[in-house]
Amino acid sequence: MMSKAHIAVGMAAAVAIAQTGSVESCVAAVVGGSVGGIIADCDIHPSRAHKDALIGRLIVVGIAVVALLADRYANAGLCDYLVAHLGVPLLAGIALFAVLTFAGGHTDHRSFTHSLVAMAAFCAAVYLACAPLLPFFAVGYASHLALDIVNKQGIQLFWPLHKEVSLGLCKAKGMANTVVMIAGFAAAVLLLAYKLGLIALVI
Ligand SMILES: [Zn+2]
Repeated sequence: MMSKAHIAVGMAAAVAIAQTGSVESCVAAVVGGSVGGIIADCDIHPSRAHKDALIGRLIVVGIAVVALLADRYANAGLCDYLVAHLGVPLLAGIALFAVLTFAGGHTDHRSFTHSLVAMAAFCAAVYLACAPLLPFFAVGYASHLALDIVNKQGIQLFWPLHKEVSLGLCKAKGMANTVVMIAGFAAAVLLLAYKLGLIALVI
């Protein structure tokens, strides 16, 4: 799948599990789900040939900035958590996240960063840096791996083993990608609006 589909499904999955938490947890869900949904593709170098990777990263930065501004406006607590926990674990988490992203950028596409080992390592970094993001980041990351497994081009889920896992059902680009992206964004927006009390289920 392409980056916008990964962001959409990552956010939708994260906002879905936020339904069981507080309204304030929606901020962490939006940030954690969108970052978790796309970080595995840090093994693609943004370039003219890979505009999608650049656009995806800009979208996630934009989403994170808007979510953190909303956090400040609504006192949702995420920024307060970061300020209150400023210290060695937070800095170690950020450093580990940066090292993993840098290392992932120097591996083959769909190898290390698309494995359970990398998912566990990234989750450890997020836990150290900002624990409230962890469940949402993890579900976003898992959604990325699940979507890529559907693809005809497999992923090295059990890296360092090189065996590729693939269901071979669709290509990364095309109709399936568009349908998943639209469904993901629609689900994310509806679930968010429902949790925020902007819409109500009519029974
Ligand atoms: Zn991927």
